[in-house]
Amino acid sequence: MRDMVNDIERVLVSKEEIAEMVKRLGKQISDDYRGQPLVVLGVLKGGFVFMADLVRAIDTPLELDFIAVSSYGASTKSSGVVQLRKDSDIPLTGKHVLIVEDIIDSGLTLTYLKEMLEARNPLSVKIATAFDKPERRKVPLHVDYSGIVIPDEYVVGYGLDYDSEMRNIPDLCVLKRSVYEK
Ligand code: 5GP
Repeated sequence: MRDMVNDIERVLVSKEEIAEMVKRLGKQISDDYRGQPLVVLGVLKGGFVFMADLVRAIDTPLELDFIAVSSYGASTKSSGVVQLRKDSDIPLTGKHVLIVEDIIDSGLTLTYLKEMLEARNPLSVKIATAFDKPERRKVPLHVDYSGIVIPDEYVVGYGLDYDSEMRNIPDLCVLKRSVYEK
């Protein structure tokens, strides 16, 4: 079991800063999609906290669902292989789609998901992410709604895990290197 206090090096983004970011993106998304059919798709598991906060900051009607892709597992490095584990059965034809992700790293997950969803003939597919590590990008990716840009560090909390734990920490925190470089 992880130690939620001693395994943390420092808070990178506080819950107060996160709340402001959510408010800002929620307003922008509401203004952009007002009067249009919108489906918001949260990416499990990491995206569940941001999803719950973001949809409550959007004041226009929307449908929502979750999709799940394979994660890094117990490691902190991406394998580069993306696997769909749970799909959405909401028909997307004639609707705008907004994918809600916790963090963008290499960009491989979102590139895969965007392509998969575009094949279902929606009006558009856009991306909202709580956190972004642009330095780590392996493929070019346009991020429509980017919450907070962070440096290349392994982070936990606000939905993000290490070894399946720590998702319930309210702030975004940097994990001590000694935790995963053993
Ligand atoms: P990408 O496909 O862009 O490389 O990776 C996206 C996914 O990798 C995220 O949804 C998240 O699950 C995981 N990920 C990337 N960076 C981090 C990180 O710093 N901490 C954690 N916990 N997961 C990360």
